[in-house]
Amino acid sequence: MALVNPDFAQELKQFGVDTALECFNCGTCAAICPLIYEHFPRKMIRYVQVGAAELILQQAQDLWRCLHCGLCTRTCPRQANPGELILGLRRYVVSRWRRA
Ligand code: SF4
Ligand code: SF4
Repeated sequence: MALVNPDFAQELKQFGVDTALECFNCGTCAAICPLIYEHFPRKMIRYVQVGAAELILQQAQDLWRCLHCGLCTRTCPRQANPGELILGLRRYVVSRWRRA
């Protein structure tokens, strides 16, 4: 079962993930993303918002699918910067792997 941690978004600021709470889950980024893959990247941002770190770690391989095309960031209506959030989540995951 995934644990929920409302403080997770704050913890991620050290990895450059500081705009996740701007997201209101409209789904534009998932619709425009060329990967067309399981609501990516929106689902990762939602995981940050609810603090579902376990799910991010379980699905970490999805973070490396990102093409850095920037379409999600350019079309996001809330300046949530989803493309940069994905990069920050990679840094978080790598730090967890190093600790393991
Ligand atoms: S487009 Fe922006 S506000 Fe909409 S779901 Fe994606 S990150 Fe959130
Ligand atoms: S930057 Fe990554 S997550 Fe955003 S639209 Fe491009 S491939 Fe998808």
